[in-house]
Amino acid sequence: MKSNHIETNTIHAGKVKDKQFGALSTPIYQTSTYVFDSTHQGGARFSGDEQGYIYGRLGNPTVRELEQRMASLEGTDDAAALGSGMGAVSATIFAIVNAGDHIVASNALYGCSYALLDHKCRQLGIDVTFVDITNEMAVRSAIKDNTKMLYAETPINPNLVCVDLDMIARVAKEKGIKSVIDNTFMSPVLQRPVEHGIDLIIHSATKYLNGHGDVIAGIVCGDQEMIEEIKLTTLKDMGAVISPHDAWLIIRGLKTLHIRVERHCQNAQKVAEYLEQHPSIKTVYFPGLPSHDGHRLIGHQMKAGGGVMAFEIDGDFDNAVQFMDQLKMCKIAVSLGDAETLIQHPASMTHSPYEPEDRRAAGISDTLVRLSVGLEHVDDIIEDLHQGLSKAFTGLVKTGS
Ligand SMILES: *Cc1c(COP(=O)(O)O)cnc(C)c1O
Repeated sequence: MKSNHIETNTIHAGKVKDKQFGALSTPIYQTSTYVFDSTHQGGARFSGDEQGYIYGRLGNPTVRELEQRMASLEGTDDAAALGSGMGAVSATIFAIVNAGDHIVASNALYGCSYALLDHKCRQLGIDVTFVDITNEMAVRSAIKDNTKMLYAETPINPNLVCVDLDMIARVAKEKGIKSVIDNTFMSPVLQRPVEHGIDLIIHSATKYLNGHGDVIAGIVCGDQEMIEEIKLTTLKDMGAVISPHDAWLIIRGLKTLHIRVERHCQNAQKVAEYLEQHPSIKTVYFPGLPSHDGHRLIGHQMKAGGGVMAFEIDGDFDNAVQFMDQLKMCKIAVSLGDAETLIQHPASMTHSPYEPEDRRAAGISDTLVRLSVGLEHVDDIIEDLHQGLSKAFTGLVKTGS
């Protein structure tokens, strides 16, 4: 069943009824292969004359349900689930571009997406131009005759710059090229790029979709033709397959996605407001704050600011390290969208694949800290940050509160 309410859809949309036993929870089909009744049937499955499963890398009923649920939540025809977010990014890119083609991509991206485009794509003879993707003129002037794809994420990891999806879709449609958006930071609860005309939507399902820090997985959502192309080529032949058990864990996670995301947003809003007034913090990057440039897109393309923010400590690298090392409850870890509050240092961690000057161009300084606000009581999160900030400056002139 499909409702107009995402709260209902995260639970019911795309659910496959268990006709055999009526199980409420989706069965986990933990199998590598499928038995044919006859040689003839096996041949008919391979030729496509008969529908049905063949082999685990080509499809699995538990994985299929996850795909249908995600297509339903993102509002696309179909979806493909993969073994990691990067599996989804690479399968999507290589399904669209070939040697001799050109990609226009955001100069600020998730570190491994950037590395894939900057290193592997170029080695394979795919030309890539990185631009300030929020600047329509820059995007337009980077497009060439052989451009096949516009690639971006919004909000951009880690400094939360927001990209106008209407602009990206308009330029892509005008030029006849595919637009691809990594929607990991928002989840379909807060932002549905297809409603703005974006062609393909990628998720690291490792983050909010699963939400419990126990799975690595990816999803790509889009029209029938593109998803089929990905499944029959770059998923099947490059092989970043998701396990049925991991697909099941994400299906379970999705059922609480809307309430988790709502609480992540509420907590993050309060944490951002606390940090913004703290004397030891120079800048807070969070779209939920009116001071942030992305704030204007809230209510239009995104429902709220999300649960991730970044901030600059008013000090040096050592202060940032000291602050992080003093935290008691918040965990020093990459990843985001989990129940636990996670904190990390992009310059030395997620964005270390960047050359230092490219990192600076992407707005990632050495004192930038990224925070994924968890589901703990917000007072406990703030208290931990507060004591950490106080100790980060102990003995220094710039002591905060
Ligand atoms: C984590 C992340 C990825 C990569 O996903 P994995 O599941 O770790 O492979 C891609 N894009 C964004 C925005 C991410 O946060």
